[in-house]
Amino acid sequence: MAKPKGKTPSLLSMSTGIPAAHTCGKATPCDRCNEKVSKGESCFRIPKMKSGFTGHPLFCVTCTKEIIQQTTAELRLLVEENQHILNT
Ligand SMILES: [Zn+2]
Repeated sequence: MAKPKGKTPSLLSMSTGIPAAHTCGKATPCDRCNEKVSKGESCFRIPKMKSGFTGHPLFCVTCTKEIIQQTTAELRLLVEENQHILNT
C-alpha cells in the first residue's frame, strides 16, 4: 500500500460530517423529535446532504446522544462482522 496522503478521514467526515456543538441562536425545532430547542440552549448541528447542498439541521441533546449511540453500535457491528477481513 502506498503511503496515504493527508489526514485520515473518518466515516463521519467522509459522509455527512461531524456533529458540532452549538448554542441555539433562536428557538428551533429538533430535526428528529420536533421538540423545540430554546434560544441559548445547548444542541448539535449535524451536516446533512440534501438535494446537492449541505444543510445543518439542529438536533436536541437527547436525539444527538441516540444518534451517537447508534453510530457506535453500527461501527462495532461493522468491525465484528468483518473481523476476518480487517484483521489480515
Ligand atoms: Zn430531538
